[in-house]
Amino acid sequence: GLTTRLQNVFSKLRGKGKVSDEDVAEAMREVRLALLEADVNFKVVKEFIAKVKEKAVGKEVMESFTPGMVIIDIVNKELTDLMGGSQAKLAKANKPPTVLMMVGLQGAGKTTTSGKLAKMLQKQNSRPLLVAGDIYRPAAIKQLQVLGEQIKAPVFTLGDQTSPVEIARQGLQHAKDNGNDYVIIDTAGRLHVDEELMEELRQIHSVVNPDEVLLVVDSMTGQDAVNVAEHFNQQLNLTGVVLTKLDGDTRGGAALSVKAVTGCPIKFASLGEKLDALEPFHPERMASRILGMGDMLSLIEKAQLNIDTDKAKEMERKMRNAEFTFEDFLEQMDQVKKLGPIDQIMDMIPGMGKMKQAKDLKVDDKQMGRIEAIVYSMTTEEKRNPDMINHSRRKRIATGSGTSLAEVNRLIKQFDEMRRMMKQFSDMMGPKGGGKNKA
Ligand code: GDP
Ligand code: MG
Repeated sequence: GLTTRLQNVFSKLRGKGKVSDEDVAEAMREVRLALLEADVNFKVVKEFIAKVKEKAVGKEVMESFTPGMVIIDIVNKELTDLMGGSQAKLAKANKPPTVLMMVGLQGAGKTTTSGKLAKMLQKQNSRPLLVAGDIYRPAAIKQLQVLGEQIKAPVFTLGDQTSPVEIARQGLQHAKDNGNDYVIIDTAGRLHVDEELMEELRQIHSVVNPDEVLLVVDSMTGQDAVNVAEHFNQQLNLTGVVLTKLDGDTRGGAALSVKAVTGCPIKFASLGEKLDALEPFHPERMASRILGMGDMLSLIEKAQLNIDTDKAKEMERKMRNAEFTFEDFLEQMDQVKKLGPIDQIMDMIPGMGKMKQAKDLKVDDKQMGRIEAIVYSMTTEEKRNPDMINHSRRKRIATGSGTSLAEVNRLIKQFDEMRRMMKQFSDMMGPKGGGKNKA
């Protein structure tokens, strides 16, 4: 996938103390190919590469201590910008109700997203009304009613014999009469963009004057999703996009192109069929996920709930100063175990996802036990100064822990790699690298 390809490009740059113009050019060629292969719009790719190049050839990068990391940081920032920079909030009407009109092709996820949005709004103590505006698809009304029952949200319908425009008009009035502060209008879709449908949507639009016109697009459809978005935007002045099916095997093209092509921000991401699988879309998180830096922010949020903060701060300080030892590693493993199934956690740690893939490393709780055995077989001195663990010490550790020399070598190599990446990552996130995220 895109992430693996980008990681390969960057692992070449990462360790370098000096980066030549050719290195940069070569890396950019590969980034370009990786993006195109991920089905990102070619114009978007072209502009993206130009921007990154412009920043990457600067003096600052070449003279930096870790030029490779500076370049990754530049790419990360540009990817974030490409997806809208910061999180785009849902509009709110000055005078309630706030009207949300859901549009998109058939099967994109309009109806389910309507239910998910209603649930999200309820959690914020709002009282959304769902309006069943798709009278064409068999059972579309029933589908919305079932969703409404599940979350105990009212669903307004006039059956399938009244025009969607009239349903929308009366639905809005119903919300006003009943004190609903949000109205979510589910509409019909077609398999392809079609003039008749657009006309109907324009009429609904002019009758309800929505605060948000949210285009629901299936991220699995890649560039097609972007073409659809462009079309709808010309007809309806979209205010935002909801990307669905991001839980599937999407190549990332839609997420990366849709904002650049339409100017419409992605406001929500849907990652599953369940009603709570909708999230506000965070460009910076998506960018780091794409770059395989793991979803550090999500991990940090998760960790904050479970981890001793004083210890975590101390750990962070050590990582910054490259003082991280095998003793810390053991403690870290203890903390990590509290977070949940290990293979899920590993995916969120920068570099780990890649390591798992590249080395075909199966990390499970049993594996953790072997790793712990190796570390326990080190002397205190060795744990504190991993660099002193030479060949004969490794052999001793392997025997002591009942593992093999190869396993010990692998662990130490991974440890070194992790230590280096953590340091680089924290430099990048810190004030020096300037890549600090707001959250
Ligand atoms: P509509 O025709 O645009 O109203 O689409 P629906 O809301 O009926 O959704 C079509 C199908 O996509 C349904 O089977 C949904 O359960 C499924 N779906 C919607 N969103 C997601 C998502 O984020 N992930 C997955 N895996 N499936 C989704
Ligand atoms: Mg529907």
